[in-house]
Amino acid sequence: MRITSNFDGGNIEVIIAESPENIKLAIRKDTRANFFQWFFFRVEGAQGFPCRISLVNASESSYPEGWIGYRAVASYDLVEWFRVPTFFNGKELNINHMPEYNSVYYAYFAPFTYQQHLEMIHKAQMSRQMVIENLGQTVEGRNIDLLTAGEVSETKPKIWILARQHPGEPMAEWFMQGLIERLGNTNDPVACYLLDHAIFYLVPNMNIDGSILGNLRCNALGHNLNRVWDNPDPETTPEVYYVRQKMLETGVDLCLDIHGDEGLPYCFATSNVGIPSFSRRLAMLEKEFLDAWKKISPDFQTEHGYEADKPGTANLGICSKWVGENFDCLSLTIEMPFKDNNNLPDSHYGWSPGRSKAFGASVLNVIVQMLDKIG
Ligand code: ZN
Repeated sequence: MRITSNFDGGNIEVIIAESPENIKLAIRKDTRANFFQWFFFRVEGAQGFPCRISLVNASESSYPEGWIGYRAVASYDLVEWFRVPTFFNGKELNINHMPEYNSVYYAYFAPFTYQQHLEMIHKAQMSRQMVIENLGQTVEGRNIDLLTAGEVSETKPKIWILARQHPGEPMAEWFMQGLIERLGNTNDPVACYLLDHAIFYLVPNMNIDGSILGNLRCNALGHNLNRVWDNPDPETTPEVYYVRQKMLETGVDLCLDIHGDEGLPYCFATSNVGIPSFSRRLAMLEKEFLDAWKKISPDFQTEHGYEADKPGTANLGICSKWVGENFDCLSLTIEMPFKDNNNLPDSHYGWSPGRSKAFGASVLNVIVQMLDKIG
């Protein structure tokens, strides 16, 4: 039997792997940081044996409440990711599964690899009115890719949608894929209308290095990108620095920052009520946007979410807060679950790439309704 994780997005440390019924593993910390929760590894040589895989440091992870009611995903083909029986005993996370094939992958959520990222943006470039632009280099020298959709014009609303500042939240990039594929569909009237009347600035993966490294929250130097928006450093957090520079150049009328939440089994948005310049106008825009999304997608709801900030206490190091404050525009953090949407659960797949993509595509119906109000 052999357990490996030395591939794109891989994360695990092997403690004991001599027999399938007693596999003990540990999740590795983020590069130069103490966060950990993301795991992704391959097991070979256990076909037909009931495997008991213990992640022994689960209770010390960044969000231990994330393991309650959680089921790991597994795949034989790296395309279909199904849920497997998983139990948290308050200390270890135990995955119980009998692989049907000689090689099987297990992960925290269906991964979205760098190769998939490159294929997605280059496919998009071949569709009408989408352009790839390199904004700068990551810490490890990879391109920070911006996809611009719609003809650039001073008068059209500028819509920024970013994903995966936290690399261990791949549902955010699945969301982007659903949104980008829909925008590129020339038979979709909502997409056609939006490309004629708005400009989309899309960053499908803000943290390429962290994604490849198998990190949960940080870039290659151990920085949490979603805490440095008020003062990004071109040397240590270039991913935020260059995207922010481009925002300052284009202006922003609407910003969505896409994430995954370890704990809550729902999709939700966080309000900007705590930013210093929050106004009646911004409150109205938030309410209309969220109400519209609830009507459009049963996967969106406003009952469950984070507690709102007190007025004036928002952390402007967070992307949606800094953007809302700086551009006086509607700006939201969007969260999807690792577990499932408990309002509409899927017993086989849980929250999945397919659901994330459909959810990403659905936001275009909301944006088309809000277009004359946000600009
Ligand atoms: Zn996040």
